[in-house]
Amino acid sequence: MNQRGYLLDMDGVIYRENHLLPGAGELIAHLLESATPFLFLTNNSVPTPDDLVVKLERLGIGGLNARHFYTSAMNTADFLAEMHPKCTAFVLGEAGLNAALQAARIPNDSMAPSYVIVGEGTPTTEKIGKAHEFIEKGARLIATNPDYWCPVKSDVSRPGAGALAAYLEASTGRRAYYLGKPNPYMFFRARRLLHRQTHEVMMVGDTMETDIRGAIEIGIQACLVLTGSTGIEDIGDYVYQPTCVMSGVDELLEEIKGKGRTDRLSSPTLSSFNLRKPQGTKHHSESPLPRRQRPAMTR
Ligand SMILES: [Mg+2]
Repeated sequence: MNQRGYLLDMDGVIYRENHLLPGAGELIAHLLESATPFLFLTNNSVPTPDDLVVKLERLGIGGLNARHFYTSAMNTADFLAEMHPKCTAFVLGEAGLNAALQAARIPNDSMAPSYVIVGEGTPTTEKIGKAHEFIEKGARLIATNPDYWCPVKSDVSRPGAGALAAYLEASTGRRAYYLGKPNPYMFFRARRLLHRQTHEVMMVGDTMETDIRGAIEIGIQACLVLTGSTGIEDIGDYVYQPTCVMSGVDELLEEIKGKGRTDRLSSPTLSSFNLRKPQGTKHHSESPLPRRQRPAMTR
């Protein structure tokens, strides 16, 4: 019960494109061998947990099952099942979202849905038009996550569920409610899944706006790894700060294997970088940092 459990983001933490990041395979093998509680936490609402088991197996990580994954699609289904169990939904999304809604017994409705649910994917213009119509008639707008864009390759991205929800917000004048990270409800439900095994949980992620913000807001440790969307020079731009920063999960594995717990900003990765001084362009006009190549992942 005293063992620390982990919520692990996937893209930018475990893999990038179709390659495992250094130490990722070893970290998961160690967590499985030592029966350490952990859960993959992803805002990608396209895959089902079984799809993710296969994806990681193909990348070289075996021994996982569907119970090791919690997606923003599952979080959306959990939220609606708790808030409005008899609701119906018109869905702009893929297999992961449809499967999660089906498991929560939330039926599809293309005549008078209580909700329009937006997930990741590329719906037809006709379907988007239908969604607009239903919202105008009173359906509530929900999105599986607020990500405006999602990484495809290091220099390629695709529009995310947040971008499509923003489109419908603009066309209808209604505001969407966003599940997934950083909504504390995502962390609350994920944490509850680990609750029987541990009370102490650390989130490990690469994105400040989702992984780190949500962890801080629910009051768990937030470990930023620098193998994904955030560079060390970006950290000072944010009002919320990670509780530790690591170069990658290889460093996390070393820490878990016995170099003592990193509970504060004591990582060697940070030793040459003073986080306490504001570093962002918003605070430091004399030597501005290079502009970000992309907008923030969420608003
Ligand atoms: Mg990520």
